[in-house]
Amino acid sequence: MRFSGKTAVVTGAASGIGKASVLLLASEGAHVFAADIDEAGGAELAESSNGKITFQRCDVTSTEDIKALMDRAAADTGGIDIVFNNAGAGGDGAPIDEIEPEGWDLTMDLLLRSAAFGIRYAVPHMIGRANASIINTSSVAAVGPGYSPNAYAVAKAGVLHLTKIAAAQLARHQIRVNAIQPGFINTNIFTRSLELEGQKAEIGKQAIAAMSQQAQPVARGGQPEDIANAMAYLASEEASFVNGHSMIVDGGITLGPRYSWDQSEPSIFDSLRALAEAEAE
Ligand code: NAP
Repeated sequence: MRFSGKTAVVTGAASGIGKASVLLLASEGAHVFAADIDEAGGAELAESSNGKITFQRCDVTSTEDIKALMDRAAADTGGIDIVFNNAGAGGDGAPIDEIEPEGWDLTMDLLLRSAAFGIRYAVPHMIGRANASIINTSSVAAVGPGYSPNAYAVAKAGVLHLTKIAAAQLARHQIRVNAIQPGFINTNIFTRSLELEGQKAEIGKQAIAAMSQQAQPVARGGQPEDIANAMAYLASEEASFVNGHSMIVDGGITLGPRYSWDQSEPSIFDSLRALAEAEAE
């Protein structure tokens, strides 16, 4: 029960990583304010919890909604100990030389401004709390191109820098700030981004489940609970000396090119040797 008596706020709480995190925090004693735009999903989560989970509708692209969320959590319980700025979606999928201002701005508001103002409006309620901790969801997309849509990747890289700046400046209030960079985690984000509905969404989810087992050196699909466990560690007393860090939780997907861990995949050197031998014959 690492979080007995603590108040936690989680955004993007009705699905995937956020939902797993809400359930873990509540199971270890926290009162969790679960925020999402999905009112039905959020209400269902709260109903299942014997009062340990309070749902509040919050669109994280609205700074008014974020402020209302943090103010409500503090008013109901006396302060905030843990904030998980996690809500997100794929954002605008346009190539970098075709993207329009509206799609760019919406993606930044959803993924980067949301975390900045999650911090901004939570901090006044976190000052003076013991082991106060903020965790922001970044992504392996922040490592470099190829893991996500372009605007998303830029926003998630921004989340890493925001994390470091906040960690440095909020240390004076004894508030720690860290990030998590999930790899390929099997949630609804992919089918949502591809706008797959109904039967197509179900087929898509099955394909993603199969693909995600093959995508990285750890030969199983990444699960929301893998990220929730990392979040809980960063929120806990055990991490009280961890600040400004970003934890990559990706089964090793960012370790190197596929041939570095998959022996059935020819390396660039195998290809060169084969080419030279073929040319010489
Ligand atoms: P998910 O299952 O789709 O959950 C995201 C939740 O956020 C959904 O309930 C979604 O509601 C909600 N949401 C979307 N826009 C929102 C808004 N404006 N305000 C409040 N809530 C909003 O996806 P997930 O994979 O758990 O994603 C959680 C975080 O992890 C995101 O920041 C994502 O970028 C990050 N991440 C995920 C992966 C991965 O492989 N899954 C990898 C790296 C990083 P709706 O369903 O109604 O849209």
